[in-house]
Amino acid sequence: MDMKTKEPAALETRTGSEMSCLAATDSSDSSPPASTPQARWRQRNPIAYWCHSATRSALRRGIIQRQDCEFCGDHRTDAHHESHLEPLRIRWACRLHHKQLERELKLSQQSEAS
Ligand SMILES: [Zn+2]
Repeated sequence: MDMKTKEPAALETRTGSEMSCLAATDSSDSSPPASTPQARWRQRNPIAYWCHSATRSALRRGIIQRQDCEFCGDHRTDAHHESHLEPLRIRWACRLHHKQLERELKLSQQSEAS
């Protein structure tokens, strides 16, 4: 008898957690929880985040194609954006040269700001 009263309760909690899971994914676009460094970065850089997801989407749809590093020809490249407002304007660079590009970009932004 005790078992029978427990069963529906267990089911309820299960559907309950599924619901909250769905709700969390639905609202993740507008207000992501700032619990992880990534989520905090997303909140601080909404345009950069949008740009990166637009790039991923464009790659998936075949709108753009991944290219080799423009500096050393490495096949394992990241998309580098000089402006996150232009997700299709991409320079392809390996991790090493991507870091270098980011550093140059930061320096030019700092000199613009000051
Ligand atoms: Zn490279």
